[in-house]
Amino acid sequence: MVGGGPAGLAAALGLLAGGHRVTVLERAAALRRTGGAVTLSSGGTAALAALGVRVDDLGRHLEVLESRTEDGRPLMRVPLGDLGRRVGTPTTSVLRRRLVERLAGLLPADVLRLGARVDGVEPHGRRPLVHLDGAPDVAADLLVGADGERSPVRRSVRPGAVPGRTGWTTWQGCTRVDHPLVDDERVLFLTGPAGFCDLQPAGEGLLQWSFSTPPGVLPAAHGPRGAAAVLRARFGGWADPVPAVLAAVADDDLSGWDHRTAPVPSVWGAGAVTLVGDAAHVMPPSLGQGVNQALEDAHALAAALRGVGPSDVVRALRGYEARRTRQVRPVAVLAGSEEAITHRALSRGVMRSLPDSWALGLWGGMVRRSSAALAG
Ligand SMILES: Cc1cc2nc3c(=O)[nH]c(=O)nc-3n(C[C@H](O)[C@H](O)[C@H](O)COP(=O)(O)OP(=O)(O)OC[C@H]3O[C@@H](n4cnc5c(N)ncnc54)[C@H](O)[C@@H]3O)c2cc1C
Repeated sequence: MVGGGPAGLAAALGLLAGGHRVTVLERAAALRRTGGAVTLSSGGTAALAALGVRVDDLGRHLEVLESRTEDGRPLMRVPLGDLGRRVGTPTTSVLRRRLVERLAGLLPADVLRLGARVDGVEPHGRRPLVHLDGAPDVAADLLVGADGERSPVRRSVRPGAVPGRTGWTTWQGCTRVDHPLVDDERVLFLTGPAGFCDLQPAGEGLLQWSFSTPPGVLPAAHGPRGAAAVLRARFGGWADPVPAVLAAVADDDLSGWDHRTAPVPSVWGAGAVTLVGDAAHVMPPSLGQGVNQALEDAHALAAALRGVGPSDVVRALRGYEARRTRQVRPVAVLAGSEEAITHRALSRGVMRSLPDSWALGLWGGMVRRSSAALAG
């Protein structure tokens, strides 16, 4: 396994449970503990449950997603709790570092090799070969690239597939904010001509907030210095609680992420090499699906390899990729359609007239169709 992010750690757990011997090669000297919260939707929590990972004691349970216009008028209300009760697994907001700690904590001590930077791989020998920076090559029966959106493993096996920018940027942070939303079970999603804004409790008294801006407004290369003032000028007149949140935001709280996307190909790997997570399908954070789809990959990969002998591994990997492509491709396309997400492409009147049950049908349909774990 190359990469010790959520995808690599979860996939390692799945393969260990299937009786495989696993090594995770992670370039960093320590697992990344930065970043805000991630929303684990019912598919993501189902994948974790199938991998034997509890998260019900972490973060905040989410009962409802409220979509509103920039001036606070309701657009759509998705009863996430109803979906959770229907499928048996909830939607939860969890600090990324708590998820990584939980996954890593379940691995046996000798599995994770930190400070191991992979330069490239050779997929086509008798066994795939991993080239390490400053250390001897490593051979494996199966190699999984879980090395994120710039994936050196993907570049070795599919050199042409380079993710491009959509032009949008998300500025996010996770801070203590004195507002009742911190103790709530609601996600607030506001959209308007300026962009979109997501606010949700993250547990531990923290509020996760993000502001997404269209092309040319505030690219990540701008850096955090002065970014809070730009966001205040752009979003400061939005409905409660946006002004209060922005008033408490300092430049040091902000991280900017340019949205990247790439078409999800039908074949992800080559020979006994495959991919999981962002390495396989880069998508903007607009729908909060990156980690969820990474966990789904981990679960689906472990299931595809269960009971498979050495002569059938390559076929099992291509089968896993084909199944996951069908599930993840529509999500990646939608996440990269920021214009549609700001509802500029949809009539707000139509959104407003949708009963909760229809909104649940739309959201729940996406969650179910993209989920290997909910499909069983
Ligand atoms: C602003 C923002 C908000 C988001 N919010 C959500 C959300 O609410 N819900 C959600 O589901 N997703 C969210 N995402 C997406 C999510 O963060 C990613 O999809 C997720 O981190 C992907 O996990 P991964 O393990 O595939 O990759 P990563 O987390 O990128 O991990 C890759 C790992 O590989 C290692 N690595 C890289 N290169 C090498 C190498 N050469 N050798 C060895 N190791 C290497 C890296 O150090 C890293 O540890 C968000 C993303 C952003 C930017």
